[in-house]
Amino acid sequence: MTEVDAAVVGSGPNGLSAAVTLARAGLRVRVYEAAQTIGGGARTAELTVPGFRHDVCSAVHPQALASPFFRAFGLEKRVSFVVPELSYAHPLDGGVAGLAYRDLGRTAESLGVDGAAWRRLLEPLLDRLDGVLDFTGGTMLRAPRDPVAAFEFAVRALAQGTRAWNVGFAGGVAPAMLAGVAAHAGGALPSLGSAGAGLLLATLAHAGGWPIPVGGSQAIVDAMADDLRAHGGEIVTGAEVHAWGDLPSAQAVLFDTSPRDLVRIVGSRVPERYRRRIERFRYASAVAKVDFALDAPVPWANPEVADAGTVHLGGTRSQIAAAEREVRAGRHPGWPYALVSQPSRFDASRAPEGKHVLWAYTHVPLGSEVDPTEMVTEQIERSAPGFRDVVIASAWRSAAQIEEHNSNYVGGDISGGEVSIAQLFCRPVLSRAPWATPIRGVYLCSSSTPPGPSVHGLNGWFAAIAALRVTFGTRQIPALGA
Ligand SMILES: Cc1cc2nc3c(=O)[nH]c(=O)nc-3n(C[C@H](O)[C@H](O)[C@H](O)COP(=O)(O)OP(=O)(O)OC[C@H]3O[C@@H](n4cnc5c(N)ncnc54)[C@H](O)[C@@H]3O)c2cc1C
Repeated sequence: MTEVDAAVVGSGPNGLSAAVTLARAGLRVRVYEAAQTIGGGARTAELTVPGFRHDVCSAVHPQALASPFFRAFGLEKRVSFVVPELSYAHPLDGGVAGLAYRDLGRTAESLGVDGAAWRRLLEPLLDRLDGVLDFTGGTMLRAPRDPVAAFEFAVRALAQGTRAWNVGFAGGVAPAMLAGVAAHAGGALPSLGSAGAGLLLATLAHAGGWPIPVGGSQAIVDAMADDLRAHGGEIVTGAEVHAWGDLPSAQAVLFDTSPRDLVRIVGSRVPERYRRRIERFRYASAVAKVDFALDAPVPWANPEVADAGTVHLGGTRSQIAAAEREVRAGRHPGWPYALVSQPSRFDASRAPEGKHVLWAYTHVPLGSEVDPTEMVTEQIERSAPGFRDVVIASAWRSAAQIEEHNSNYVGGDISGGEVSIAQLFCRPVLSRAPWATPIRGVYLCSSSTPPGPSVHGLNGWFAAIAALRVTFGTRQIPALGA
């Protein structure tokens, strides 16, 4: 008899979704986590000053409440979320700002001349939201359940992912907003991968919104860890798995790691062909992050921006595309794209009374060791003159340090590999079940598998379902509800 039925390497959202699923199926599960605390990209900690709680990686969760895994898990019953009415804002020069409200009609109205084009782009996707989530939430090699939704999505991704992306828009605000969401993917702009990611985020902004967990992202993984333990699972922290010999005897091992680390850890067990395919897997542009403790809210030139959960900085569509091109060419842009979230505006538990936390990152070349504090501060100042005066303290992490903190983020790539059209099909290899590896009982369950990055737990859930079917011989998917 083996020591455990299943070992999971890594306690990120996907390691935990895999572990929860397997434990709910009645298996003996043990999770090994390299860091001293659980959660991977969903940790919350005091990074600047005592009393100011910052999200170390993810902060805003457009996909958490929409995820079929989290719906089955009943996340909404276990964690409180605040959903800002203004999903995201995109400040531009002269106090102008694009405002994406949850209410599509209000957003279209605020966009004036481009309101009708905004509606034409997103309304058909909202009307078929479940079909869109099904199409974007699995492998690209599967027949979509709602072919019309898949078609509507693909047509729009083609338009937004090519140089024709401005066709149909008269002004600059709506295109800038679309560039702001597409740039989340960290890929080339325009490109099909970025356009797909951007369209999904833009659709969710008008559906369930972009929720912020009360207490920080840590609350999500803590809820999963509690459920795992309640079903007999164990988590060992401070336990980095360096080699196969560090693992207990188990029928299945699920790796919530980069494909590169999986191949290294399994060593000579891996067939040469699979190893070569993994070596070809590409990592995209990286991020460098800054967290601020603030004495007062950010003094946005346009006061409406204060109501947004997320703020995209970087100017017009062409300015953002140019900045992303610079990053991909290995340079730090003078006018960078930056993503900012202001969680304490919605969740008072993050900072002492009257004070605030601000979370921000910018795109930089892979492996960059540059301190991004000044780049990000300057970019915020452009839209919020006087910002520097409200900063009490800040803490930064270069792209290289982001990888040191979590080896899944190769070179500081937070997507677990480039979100390009090729790597949506080959994630990390071309297969209808890419969670399974050629090694018996070994699975990859991180964001380097479909459906890609974000805190939705789907990669781990799909990997666990594959393990249940192939290794444990059951097609029954366990109930996960609270
Ligand atoms: C700065 C930043 C901002 C982000 N912002 C957002 C956001 O706002 N919204 C969003 O949805 N997503 C965001 N993301 C992305 C999101 O965090 C990831 O997509 C998600 O966490 C991936 O989950 P995962 O379980 O695949 O991997 P991870 O969360 O990276 O977890 C992997 C875990 O495995 C552990 N591990 C790795 N190797 C080993 C080993 N050999 N032995 C033991 N343990 C190991 C790591 O320590 C880590 O805890 C952000 C990420 C970063 C870094």
